[in-house]
Amino acid sequence: MRGNLYIVSAPSGSGKTTLLQYLLRQFNDLKFSVSHTTRQPRKGERNGVDYFFTDRETFLAMVDREEFLEWAEYQGQLYGTSRTFVEGNLEAGKDVILDIDVQGALQVKSKMPGAVSIFILPPSFAELERRLRARRLEPEDTIRRRLEIARGEIVFYRDYNYIIVNDVLEDSVLLLEAIVRGGDLPSRQEDRIKDIISSFGGLG
Ligand code: ADP
Ligand code: 5GP
Repeated sequence: MRGNLYIVSAPSGSGKTTLLQYLLRQFNDLKFSVSHTTRQPRKGERNGVDYFFTDRETFLAMVDREEFLEWAEYQGQLYGTSRTFVEGNLEAGKDVILDIDVQGALQVKSKMPGAVSIFILPPSFAELERRLRARRLEPEDTIRRRLEIARGEIVFYRDYNYIIVNDVLEDSVLLLEAIVRGGDLPSRQEDRIKDIISSFGGLG
């Protein structure tokens, strides 16, 4: 049986990476799709774990060879999702989770309508600004630019299946876990549900 595909998007600084780290620790079978990007690694980021860091020329050659399921430009840098990683794991019955921006999410949704999409919102603009600064990983102009991009991104919340307002971290983790567990219902639990129904003597 094919795996489920989850898409998570959020304005930068909302806490998406933090939430995904908790989720991935809970769900060993969930495969995180490591994207390719032309941006420089931030402090602490590892090649092959957080991203595959690549140059523009290599990235564009991959675009030509149609190696990306989707790709987009964000803040002048290119980001893309490996088609073979996603397809291969879904085919093998594994669930896959993508951390991609709103442009990428729309592309994936149009190709794979069954994907479950989740949008993470910060509690307010002021709190987003505070978190971006608290992270202390980017220069002021990058933070300003990310806040500007966020203004444009939040209007896309309607295109997502679920919204999580990431206020209290523990609550958000529970919500995200519930969504991913819920994704099991239609496909994965069919056999179990059939057994339960037959224990009732079958349907009707
Ligand atoms: P993103 O991946 O969305 O850009 P991060 O996960 O890097 O964001 O989080 C940005 C900053 O906000 C980090 O310093 C993180 O520790 C903090 N953070 C994340 N979630 C919360 C939360 N619910 N409450 C307070 N701070 C948070
Ligand atoms: P960051 O530079 O903060 O890691 O990511 C910037 C934005 O790019 C975030 O919204 C993140 O979700 C998005 N992003 C990361 N990987 C991909 C990808 O493969 N495709 C697309 N479309 N966006 C991505």
